[in-house]
Amino acid sequence: MGGTFNPIHYGHLVTAEAARDAFRLDRVIFIPAGHPPHKVEMGVASPEHRYLMTFLAIAPNFHFELSRVEIERQGPSYTSDTLRYFHMMDDSIDWYFISGADAILEIASWHYPEDIFRYGQLIAASRPGYSLSRLQALSDHLGEDEVRRIHQLEVPALAISSSLVRQRIQSGLSIKYLVPEAVEHYIAKNGLYQGHP
Ligand code: ATP
Ligand code: MG
Repeated sequence: MGGTFNPIHYGHLVTAEAARDAFRLDRVIFIPAGHPPHKVEMGVASPEHRYLMTFLAIAPNFHFELSRVEIERQGPSYTSDTLRYFHMMDDSIDWYFISGADAILEIASWHYPEDIFRYGQLIAASRPGYSLSRLQALSDHLGEDEVRRIHQLEVPALAISSSLVRQRIQSGLSIKYLVPEAVEHYIAKNGLYQGHP
């Protein structure tokens, strides 16, 4: 599961666990983006902060792991490079990339989408505001084989986003129960997201 995780919140964790259950995955590897290509880097906490918050959030789950691959790689973090990397690490494993419907809807603009389907499959999770039915529109841009490699997943709806968490911090509002307690404390301890967006 890739993301900026700026910061990680319960929407991410619920989605990962729902995917693990539904697709009987052995483990879910969280991959914080080093340099997210779709985001303006202003307001993005350092890769190390985002990595450590992700570590704190996933630590209690026996099946969740964390990878530094996108943080260590130079240049923008492309999912195609990441899937190629994992495929090369072990091509006997069926790799799935877990993503929210909002991100998948942008797939046409991703870097080398054909590699994503060559080295793995996609799990498209529902997210409040982004109905899975909109994925239908993707079939116009993708081939039949590729559409078959996108799997839909209904996730218990959590209208949480990292943007919302950041906005609440800036407004002096509580983020309790939106992010794991350890993440809440890490943010406070390091004074993250206090400045201007
Ligand atoms: P931001 O508001 O800064 O864009 P975000 O909450 O969308 O942050 P990302 O790190 O951009 O978080 O998301 C990583 C992945 O998790 C994306 O594929 C996104 O669609 C998915 N995701 C994030 N929040 C949810 C949620 N509440 N429900 C389902 N999927 C989610
Ligand atoms: Mg997002």
